[in-house]
Amino acid sequence: MRRFVVQRHRARRLHYDLRLELGGVLVSWAVPKGPTLDPAVRRAAFRVDDHELSYFDFEGVLPAGRYGAGDVIVWDVGVWEPAGDTDPAEALAAGELHLDLHGEKLRGRLAMIHTRGEEWLLIHKRDEHAVSGWNPEDHPRSVLTGRTNDDVRADSPE
Ligand code: MN
Repeated sequence: MRRFVVQRHRARRLHYDLRLELGGVLVSWAVPKGPTLDPAVRRAAFRVDDHELSYFDFEGVLPAGRYGAGDVIVWDVGVWEPAGDTDPAEALAAGELHLDLHGEKLRGRLAMIHTRGEEWLLIHKRDEHAVSGWNPEDHPRSVLTGRTNDDVRADSPE
């Protein structure tokens, strides 16, 4: 089993960073509206640079002036596995990855489909974990510390 993390990142624009541990790095997407369990919703996700594994549980404030400046919480963590007997690196390269998430908030089968450029679509399958109308913004706390982004900002020495 491989790990995944989703960080809620309040940078210049709010987004959620979905990161999948694969091949010794965190393969990453920025998801402006956040991932959802709602199977009727297609969420745009933008592939961004791979991150080092050490970034996995980063929670804190990225200082002003730095790329990504803003506050970050660990919004969800868990493990993931490719659907069926797919090779996930090949599926990723081919632009269509189906995976099962076992997180604290996110669960069930997710399809990730490359459309063009950096853009992908995230679609939660209609399985037993799907929830109509599920909104990530209704679940705003860190799964590691129980803090919101505002709490992290307030706790920062800056
Ligand atoms: Mn980010």
